[in-house]
Amino acid sequence: MQIYADNAATTKMSRTAIEAMLPYMETYFGNPSSLHSVGQAAAEALQKARESVAAALGADPREITFTSGGSEADNQAIVSAGNLGAKKGKKHIISTAFEHHAVLHTLKKMESQGFEVTLLPVHENGIVTAEEVAAAIRPDTCLVTIMFANNEIGSIQPIEAISRVCHEKGVLFHTDAVQAAGHLPINVKEQEIDMLSLSAHKFHGPKGVGVLYARRGIALSNIIEGGAQERGKRAGTENIPGIVGMAAALHEACTHMTENAAHMTALRDKLIAGLEKIPHGALNGDRANRLPGNINFCFEGIEGESLLLLLDQKGICASSGSACTSGSLEPSHVLLAIGRPHEVAHGSLRLSLCEWNTEAEVDYMLQEIPKVVDYLRSMSPVWKDLTSGKKKFML
Ligand SMILES: *Cc1c(COP(=O)(O)O)cnc(C)c1O
Repeated sequence: MQIYADNAATTKMSRTAIEAMLPYMETYFGNPSSLHSVGQAAAEALQKARESVAAALGADPREITFTSGGSEADNQAIVSAGNLGAKKGKKHIISTAFEHHAVLHTLKKMESQGFEVTLLPVHENGIVTAEEVAAAIRPDTCLVTIMFANNEIGSIQPIEAISRVCHEKGVLFHTDAVQAAGHLPINVKEQEIDMLSLSAHKFHGPKGVGVLYARRGIALSNIIEGGAQERGKRAGTENIPGIVGMAAALHEACTHMTENAAHMTALRDKLIAGLEKIPHGALNGDRANRLPGNINFCFEGIEGESLLLLLDQKGICASSGSACTSGSLEPSHVLLAIGRPHEVAHGSLRLSLCEWNTEAEVDYMLQEIPKVVDYLRSMSPVWKDLTSGKKKFML
């Protein structure tokens, strides 16, 4: 059995997305800037994809900028808002300690350019409140950037309440919605979102393509200079197959959102209930305000990396921390942000489901994961110290 339970890292492409893309590789491969018919077929596809993505977000097609993915969209949103703020002497940005590195590292760069950044602490359940955002806003705040849902622990933020307090104080609000798009209802107008990032490969679309939505009137700064593509805001020949595949995948995900969420939530809750039986473990993230496919646990006395390798041998693809941090010895900044001690944060396991996972797969994981945890603990010196009383259990 091969079970893919790492959909927060990336997803398998859907048949719909692949088939939508093929004509734009084989037949209509033209450059949309070309005047001939092969180019114009590509230009038409680009416009249709823009309309389709805009409709899925409740946006206007002119508010959609295609990018190379979620990271680029996050970079461009923050740099743009920073430049707009700096013109008015506003150089303070608010975010949280548990954002994706695409946001956190861009904020570091902004700091080196004279911006001041406040990273709000995150509660144990992985949620920041609108009141805390409101309290952090200053007269010189130009941007609040807070993710829609966390990629590691799945916690969903109170986006509408946060955008409301930002607008009461005249501050732009950006959200990294890479984990939310296609999985949670998004309407940028109703939710009053000024800027939003998404990435196709997190909802069964292709890798290397994403969107930056920016409300009309928000002047974007270029990250990539060159030709006049994307209204002059993002140079480079458009990735037509990727953009077409993304639009098809997003449309499909939004069409089936309710039934997919119900299926994934049932599997998620069965996994959580089963894994909670493992002693000295704890669920990370909020129980209710949680992405339908996210399961994240800490198990005391084990190393996440060893757990992943053994699970892989049993055919289970999972993750520990985020893909960017695995391979390094630093534990996940997200788990540290919600207050897990270093030792505990090292023993984490994330399972992220999609609509194609089955109940039989969940049963198999519930049969194998406790055995692997037991086995690793039986060899762990830390576990020995814990069970002999030499060290105190934290979970
Ligand atoms: C995956 C991810 C990104 C990065 O998107 P890419 O398209 O891989 O650049 C950014 N933010 C979050 C929350 C993500 O999960």
